[in-house]
Amino acid sequence: MSQNIQKIAVLTSGGDSPGMNAAIRAVVRSCAFHKIKCIGVFRGFEGLIEGDFKTLGPRTVKNMINRGGTFLKSARSKAFKTKEGREKAYQQLQKEQIDAMVVIGGDGSFTGASIFIEEFNFPIVGLPGTIDNDIYGTDVTIGYDTALNTVVEAIDKIRDTANSHNRLFLVEVMGRNAGSIALNAGIGAGAEEILIPEENLGRDRLIDSLKRSKKAGKTSSIIVVSEGDQIGKNIFKLADYIEENLNEYEVRVTVLGHIQRGGAPSCYDRVLASRLGVSAVDSLLDGKSNIMIGISHNQITTVPFSEAIKNSNELDLELVRVADIVST
Ligand code: ATP
Repeated sequence: MSQNIQKIAVLTSGGDSPGMNAAIRAVVRSCAFHKIKCIGVFRGFEGLIEGDFKTLGPRTVKNMINRGGTFLKSARSKAFKTKEGREKAYQQLQKEQIDAMVVIGGDGSFTGASIFIEEFNFPIVGLPGTIDNDIYGTDVTIGYDTALNTVVEAIDKIRDTANSHNRLFLVEVMGRNAGSIALNAGIGAGAEEILIPEENLGRDRLIDSLKRSKKAGKTSSIIVVSEGDQIGKNIFKLADYIEENLNEYEVRVTVLGHIQRGGAPSCYDRVLASRLGVSAVDSLLDGKSNIMIGISHNQITTVPFSEAIKNSNELDLELVRVADIVST
């Protein structure tokens, strides 16, 4: 165990995700377990630059495991992208005598953290906190499971009304660059079609497929569209196109938007966040830095920030095949 680390800071950065509070709680309680101090940084890198700090003890994080969002707040900081901003952040850390930091966020946050480590040789480990599950080096990210459950629950409700009116519903879900939410929630909610950014199905193939569904006796349909999908780029225009080409369908659009980010974390996310939070403190105390802690085959893993940032997750072709088969 490193004797040099007496005080660890923790912050959340980028988009919030359910389970971030559980991760902060695990970091705080792990610090208490090891008898070292823990400092919460409010508003991500922005608060780091401004020295917006608060000492966190084990009781400060009571009743936190079940709360969505992040009580430390999150932010996107333009100033941290400048050398001057990062200098200020380093001075704040020095002033508060903080020895190491845990950054909970997405790949943008890890990029900022790794630049900071290079410039100031300051120890940082990252935890993947994003609903998009788009980070290389971990099977899942904190918040992803909760977001999937939220999407499935919403689509189940939409299906009730789709069935009652013989309607076709286009449901837009989050995922600018990755179709992970769309693909998994689409299978889980029994969608007829799933449109994802990694695959360009083409509008004509979509129409053909919907015609086949109609012939096969389907009277209503759910199409899950990832927000970054190429054909569904503007989901309202896609709805118009389908109505023009398939006039037997009444098409409706639902954009799920930010409800996907909110809500109490699922049990899976709470356990994941707790495991990753404890490992983050263990890793810093072991003298590790410049890494993200992830999970692979239910085992804790570490991956250098450089790899987590550079690589992207491959599309799971087995899931695409399953989606095709089960929507027949
Ligand atoms: P999400 O996946 O939810 O979008 P993220 O961590 O990828 O999360 P970003 O907005 O991309 O979210 O990044 C969060 C913050 O990280 C930025 O606001 C900025 O302060 C910092 N950051 C991102 N890229 C850099 C960079 N190249 N240099 C310095 N800081 C950066």
